[in-house]
Amino acid sequence: MQYQHILDQIHEEIAPTLPQGRIADYIPQLACVDERKFGMAICDVDGGFAWVGDADERFSIQSISKVFTLTQAMRTADAQLWRRVGREPSGTAFNSLVQLEFENGIPRNPFINAGALVVTDIVLSHLGDAKAALREFARRLSGADDIDYDLRVADSEARLGYRNAALAYFLKSFGNLENHPDQVLDAYFHHCALSMSCAELARSFMYLARHGLNSDGEVISSSQAKAINSLMLTSGTYDAVGAFAYSVGLPAKSGVGGGIVAVMPGMFSLCVWAPGLDGRGNSMAGSRALERFAELSGQSIF
Ligand code: GLN
Repeated sequence: MQYQHILDQIHEEIAPTLPQGRIADYIPQLACVDERKFGMAICDVDGGFAWVGDADERFSIQSISKVFTLTQAMRTADAQLWRRVGREPSGTAFNSLVQLEFENGIPRNPFINAGALVVTDIVLSHLGDAKAALREFARRLSGADDIDYDLRVADSEARLGYRNAALAYFLKSFGNLENHPDQVLDAYFHHCALSMSCAELARSFMYLARHGLNSDGEVISSSQAKAINSLMLTSGTYDAVGAFAYSVGLPAKSGVGGGIVAVMPGMFSLCVWAPGLDGRGNSMAGSRALERFAELSGQSIF
């Protein structure tokens, strides 16, 4: 299928409505991004590629990195992982502490911050240098060997990340971190601070559209790819996941940098970026763009 004209149409519709929503301002480095930015890129399983707008500009991928970290943990410690992290939607904010107390320190899923901290801990225990490992993994998946961490973003996350620090120490108090919370936080903050473009993210997520394979071979098994897509569908957009499934109908993962990656298994991987967020931390124009994409292309997993 030809996607270029669909992306062009979405861009034409959405560009005049920008900026939409509120840019993330919990750290100064995210607040200084131009809120009128908008980009989209799609890769399909036949090698097709289409893009529009600022699809080549790198942005802070934030929680989209949680998919990469989860993939790495599943490659190395799949069984152990699911004893320490759940697979249910949380229904609470991505950085919420409340459920942890009632559920004995087992985070509801790997895509809320608490879950991602446990996943990061597992990667640290198994791969040692979790920062280098994730950067290498993103470079390999995207084919762009200059992908890197934005150290100013990582540094301000570390200086101002009181909520994440609370989560990590709370998890440690339940015995659900093996490493020191500060070590886990350092890796987690760097993972969030990875800078990638829509084009690079769309390429990187192709293994989830291709049942675990990318052009170099197997990244994960097809049943693991199915599992990650299912988790994105049920937990990838936080406490907006029901509305998102209703209007878009694709597994997706968002980040507070304004990026959202969506996957149609067997067909394509699609990334949109627009920095303004809705109240749940998902890109507002990005969510609308994906909804229009589903309408115009007729593609959804349902
Ligand atoms: N760095 C952000 C945090 O830890 C990531 C959250 C997100 O993108 N939703 O709070």
